[in-house]
This record gives sequence, C-alpha cells and structure tokens, in this order.
Amino acid sequence: MDEKSLVLDRKYTCPVCDHKLTAKAVKTNSAKFVETKWDLRPIHSNINVNKYDAICCTNCGFAALTKNFTNTTQTQRRLIRENIQANYRPHEETPCEVYTTEMAISRMKMVLLCTVTKQAKDSEIGNVCLKLSWLYQDLADELPDDEASAKKKEAYLKEANNAAMNAYDHLVKARMNEDFPIAGMSETTLDYLLAYYAYIKGEYSTAMQYLSGVVTSRNTSPRLKDKSLELKDLVNEKLHPSE
Ligand SMILES: [Zn+2]
Repeated sequence: MDEKSLVLDRKYTCPVCDHKLTAKAVKTNSAKFVETKWDLRPIHSNINVNKYDAICCTNCGFAALTKNFTNTTQTQRRLIRENIQANYRPHEETPCEVYTTEMAISRMKMVLLCTVTKQAKDSEIGNVCLKLSWLYQDLADELPDDEASAKKKEAYLKEANNAAMNAYDHLVKARMNEDFPIAGMSETTLDYLLAYYAYIKGEYSTAMQYLSGVVTSRNTSPRLKDKSLELKDLVNEKLHPSE
C-alpha cells in the first residue's frame, strides 16, 4: 500500500501562539510491525512511523514530540516566545503528501532546539535525541549499498551516533532524578537501552550492571529478555575475550 494512504492530517492549536496548524500522522493500526533494532528503533514494512512524531508550528517556530506538544508550562511558553518566536520568520505550511526522512530530520531538529530552549526534563530531551538518532539511521538505510553512497552513509551514521550519545547522557540523568515511565519506557526497557549505549561506548562493566536487573526482572517481556541475553553475550565477549 502507498505511504500516503497510511497518513492523515491532524489539526492542532499551537500552545505558544494559538495558531491553527496541521501535522501528518500515521493512521491508527495501519503500520505493519517487523522488528525493533538494538537501540529499540522500530521497523515497519509499509511505513516509517518515526517520521511522523514531530509537530511544528510554522507561525512561531514551536515544535515538540506529539505526546509533549500540548503540555507546556507558562514558563516554557515564555522561553519559547523570547528565544524562538522572536527570531522566527512565520510562513505557510508547505503542502505535501508524506514527509521524507530529510523533512522529518529537520522537523525533529526543530523539536530538539525547542525542547532544550524550554528547559524540558532530561527524559524529554533524551527522548528527542533518541528519535533523531533513529531518523539518521533510517536515512542511512535508504541509501543503496554501493561505493558512491558509502561516504554519505558514514556521515549519517555518525550523526546517528552523536544523537544517541546525547540521548544516553540525558537518559542516564533522567534515570537518577525522574520517575518511570521515562521517555515512554519502563525501568527494564530503559535499562536495556542504557546497557546497549554503554556497550557502544565501550563501557562494558556499566553495560553489565544495567543488564543484570533486566535479565532477572519479572517485568521484562520475553522479547526484551531475549535481546538482553544476546547483548549480555556480546558484552561478556568484550569483558572476557577468549584466546
Ligand atoms: Zn505557534
């Protein structure tokens, strides 16, 4: 099925400037789930849902993840007015049928800028960085596997890694200071993700610490438990390399 038949326009009112705007959203239950990657990036066979999670106001520049768009505080709205709207050139929404991954990345970057500007919690900033990291990987995946694309792919994956490490820093802080769910994740899911990021960073004993709780917890879903055990093997290989 065509991607454009799987999305619809949702209407919102901007909490900062009261402008009426639309953002494309994936129709409920239309995406066909295939798998989640090591960093929990969801893959669907008929549409990339990661592209449709940013709402952007073209009148004042305010942008947020869908679930965070309406719940701003008065202080946050003031911060956005003073630091985003004041420098923003209002324009009409560009009509389009679907978002390309490039468009989704520039929308998500606007979300990141606004989320930092409004001094959001670490969980929210970490969540945005995670989604940005996923989108850069999606963009890399869209490139053909040939020599001409290799450099581009490497650059996208580098951006993905930068965003991921940013996500890691914020989510570690969120884990210390905030209550679950954090960035929409339960304790076991977040600990699995932090373990994976620690593994990527080469911090193998930290990775193992995060994993030990995930593997033994009764709240871990079978799928997450399988992934955690696989990751544990990879971490163990690094901690105790066999000759
Ligand atoms: Zn606005």
